[in-house]
Amino acid sequence: MRTIGVIGLGNMGRGMALSLRRRGFTVMGYDPAPAAREASAADGIAIVEGPSALWRDCGAVVLSLPTPEVVEAVLLGPAGPLHGAQPGLLVIDTSTSHPAVTRRIAAALAPAGIDLVDAPVSGGPKGAHAATLTMVIGGSDRAVARAEPVLAALSATRVHVGGVGAGHVTKLANNLLCAAHLLTAAEAVRMARDAGVDPERLLAGINAGSGRSGVTQVNFPTWVLNGAFDSGFTMKLMRKDVRLAEELIGALDLDLPVSTEAARLWRESAEAIPDDADFNAIVTLQLT
Ligand code: NAD
Repeated sequence: MRTIGVIGLGNMGRGMALSLRRRGFTVMGYDPAPAAREASAADGIAIVEGPSALWRDCGAVVLSLPTPEVVEAVLLGPAGPLHGAQPGLLVIDTSTSHPAVTRRIAAALAPAGIDLVDAPVSGGPKGAHAATLTMVIGGSDRAVARAEPVLAALSATRVHVGGVGAGHVTKLANNLLCAAHLLTAAEAVRMARDAGVDPERLLAGINAGSGRSGVTQVNFPTWVLNGAFDSGFTMKLMRKDVRLAEELIGALDLDLPVSTEAARLWRESAEAIPDDADFNAIVTLQLT
């Protein structure tokens, strides 16, 4: 499995393609957006005109796509791997997607001998370029073992959390927490600031205490307090992740009031904060 395809050469996929190449894999890529294709071609990735060539020529194909709808269209559509793939093809979906869609696709691919592993990531475009991503992985033990050389070339930390779809369940839980933590941390900073405490000193105090989170330890110092807002992860994608978590809660018929309120605030933020803004901009609902 020395030739790997990458479908979706955006902020994350482009870095992943480069990381695979650095590890000695031959990498081929596809993206319908001319700018994404040109950037990866300039990096030395062999660009193909459509995904069919990747199913045929690659032992494994990595997906980094925006939504479950796009993932499903790529894998089960007319140009998908069911219409011509290398025997034993392995598909690794690093997109943040919906577990029910992932399980449905895996069931459709299995009779053709195609394995699907969901391996959504944390760590942003920097982590994708540096191969320091964290992956939460869903798939059979056998499929995950097959995927290991590719996963190891992309990530520094890997947690196999269960069967196919479990990676996407875990990723949605993670991002729901991150989305909620951004809201609660902004409210805490607002309260303390209005009570006369400098935000940087406040965070130093919180990060030494039990209220700390990834948001107080990483997001506020790296992207919020310095005004940078340049994480490479957009409001549009985080709203999508929160929507997917809300859909999962609904499908399970759960009453989770705090999560539901966080999801409402994220959904309604679309009126005030544009899709292409950095996702940390949600704090501006409280902090200006
Ligand atoms: P992006 O929008 O930068 O890239 C997505 C790419 O997919 C685009 O280049 C787009 O042209 C391409 N694409 C769209 N439809 C396609 C199709 N039918 N076939 C092939 N390519 C297609 O998004 P991103 O930031 O790279 O995120 C990709 C995935 O990774 C998303 O699911 C996102 O939620 C997840 N993710 C992103 C980050 C981050 O920090 N950016 C972090 C963790 C996870």
